[in-house]
Amino acid sequence: MPKLPEEIIREEILALKAYAVPNSAGMVKLDAMENPYRLPAGLRERLGRLVEAAAINRYPDPTAAGLKAQLRSALGVPESASLVLGNGSDELIQMVVMATARPGAVVLGVEPSFVMFRMITAFAGVRYAGVDLREDFSLDAEPLLTAIERDRPAVVFIAYPNNPSGNLFDDALIERVLAAAPGLVVVDEAYHAFAGKSFLARLPRYPNLLVMRTLSKLGLAGLRLGVLAGAERWLSQLDKVRLPYNVNALTQIVAGEVLQHGDVLTEQAGAIKLERGRLLQALGKKPGVKAYQSDANFILFRVSHAERVFEGLKRRGVLIKSLHGSHRLLADCLRVTVGTPDENSAFLTALDQALEA
Ligand code: PMP
Repeated sequence: MPKLPEEIIREEILALKAYAVPNSAGMVKLDAMENPYRLPAGLRERLGRLVEAAAINRYPDPTAAGLKAQLRSALGVPESASLVLGNGSDELIQMVVMATARPGAVVLGVEPSFVMFRMITAFAGVRYAGVDLREDFSLDAEPLLTAIERDRPAVVFIAYPNNPSGNLFDDALIERVLAAAPGLVVVDEAYHAFAGKSFLARLPRYPNLLVMRTLSKLGLAGLRLGVLAGAERWLSQLDKVRLPYNVNALTQIVAGEVLQHGDVLTEQAGAIKLERGRLLQALGKKPGVKAYQSDANFILFRVSHAERVFEGLKRRGVLIKSLHGSHRLLADCLRVTVGTPDENSAFLTALDQALEA
């Protein structure tokens, strides 16, 4: 008799809940930090022609050398730093954890933060240590530095700005973490386009710093392209666990072309930032709603009955994200992605109704 999955699958995997992606068909989709804007028609046509001509019978360039050179200049990566690309930054997180998963290793993160730091650590069978943020979602220096001293983590993950709180942490505190950490510190700048601040320029100063970016929030979530920048002596090791053709040919071609028109993405990010301001102001005026300042393309807010408000929005055709129940600091918290002006207005109207119901 073959064994049951429960007898074969690792305990830590059995204990996991799968990363849930809700059905959003027909909804105003404000749950996943996507850019709501399409690319201009002329550029889309050009991409169509490039895809038509692509030799997809061949494997892609395994090093994506051309795309890396473009990313280097588009992102302003310091000359001394190297790059590794991932199938989204999720895959880069996986590579970092997989390569450092020695027996007894610890991965450290702040809580609440991006759930994949914790989940991928579990996938790799590594112990995860979480250090709570303060009530206002700022970094709590003493417990964090104490945990670094106690756990000697192989990797520290810091999202800058943080998801789901939307704030940038204090740079000076992150530098203290960089100085105290015995291993890698990954500063995940997924939301950089909406924040403007970056640790990239600090790469030459901190040999244990890796800076991660993604094109997902900028408007290319469907392409799956993440970028990790850091010292060659680290990245050459991480590159060994990268699957040979992880960035597919169409992604390389399309991302390369879009990057030549990078101003389009920057303009769209600018429009999103403007709308973020409008949404924050509108949320701030609603009785019973506490909205948190954001340096990202989403806003965290607290209401008195989050699940009821979330369901009320859903019934009215607006899908956002409920964080209630995921962490004690997120009790009654919801997260809305900044959409187009029309989508945001639809959300605000539906929110008024859901709050009254
Ligand atoms: N980092 C952070 C902080 C995120 O919020 C996300 C997406 N939610 C990611 C990384 C993953 O992005 P992707 O895999 O699309 O690059």
